[in-house]
Amino acid sequence: AKETGRNRMQFYREEMNARALERLSLEQALRRALEAQELTLFYQGQFDLATGRLLGAEALLRWQHPELGLVPPDRFIPIAEDTGLILSIGRWVLVEACRRAASWQRPGQAPVTVAVNISARQFHHGDLVAEVEHALAQSGLPAAQLELEVTESVLMGGIQPVIDTLDQLKAMGVRLALDDFGTGYSSLAYLKRFPLDVLKVDRSFIRALPQDQDDAAIVAAILGMAGHLGLATVAEGVEDEAQRAHLLAQGCQVAQGYLFARPLPAEEFEARLGEATLT
Ligand code: C2E
Ligand code: CA
Ligand code: CA
Ligand code: CA
Repeated sequence: AKETGRNRMQFYREEMNARALERLSLEQALRRALEAQELTLFYQGQFDLATGRLLGAEALLRWQHPELGLVPPDRFIPIAEDTGLILSIGRWVLVEACRRAASWQRPGQAPVTVAVNISARQFHHGDLVAEVEHALAQSGLPAAQLELEVTESVLMGGIQPVIDTLDQLKAMGVRLALDDFGTGYSSLAYLKRFPLDVLKVDRSFIRALPQDQDDAAIVAAILGMAGHLGLATVAEGVEDEAQRAHLLAQGCQVAQGYLFARPLPAEEFEARLGEATLT
């Protein structure tokens, strides 16, 4: 048993070394990724649940690493956060998403929104308001067509500075969404204190709908509360028809998920957008 224990320790140590090495090499590669133009944005449609109309898209980062292939954001964004690289990456995402979305607006047609994820570090850095202003000015995208997604963890910490930043963004006309609602250190007080426009119901509550009674109760409560507070609602991760029908019956307005569209390269998303606006 002692021998097995020692082998296991040895195994853990090698495993940890391998992971640290992997992280280090990812970190070095990430430092070059932006300049090497290996980062791109995919766009996942957001659809009106009642009419099926395409309303806009969430911009989602993709990293095409020359050797590793597509690295999922859950693997590189935490590294980008820890190293501070998220600041330059996040700036690029804002400008790129606004530039792209500006090209989607057509006179005489309903406006199309773009939602951009803002990480905690980027939010608290202090230049966010100026960066958003810059991205809007440079792209010509109307502020009302830009939505910023923050998670509950972003809102933690000094309440007043957070409110000040949100108020400034709001004053510019940008929409504010609370992402992954219900998963973080949720405090219902957030909903009252912060000037939010949209609640995004986390995928974990949607997955087992409509069968799971607990999830159904939670979703009904979130949608009811959002309605009373005047917040719009987006359901994340809608994958099948039964979920769609349930959410529509419960009064959810907007859905995002594989049932409607996967995250797509800009050109593919734009082809769908073209079809949608023809009708
Ligand atoms: P998120 O903001 O919650 O984004 C939604 C995630 O759910 C995306 O994963 C999307 O591809 C996935 N998804 C959408 N519909 C479905 C569905 O029907 N079923 C399933 N199983 N999954 C679905 P993705 O693209 O891998 O992004 C993961 C996370 O990485 C995002 O979660 C977000 O937290 C972060 N992220 C992505 N892009 C950015 C960015 O530009 N900046 C920052 N700070 N974070 C980003
Ligand atoms: Ca998001
Ligand atoms: Ca989310
Ligand atoms: Ca998530």
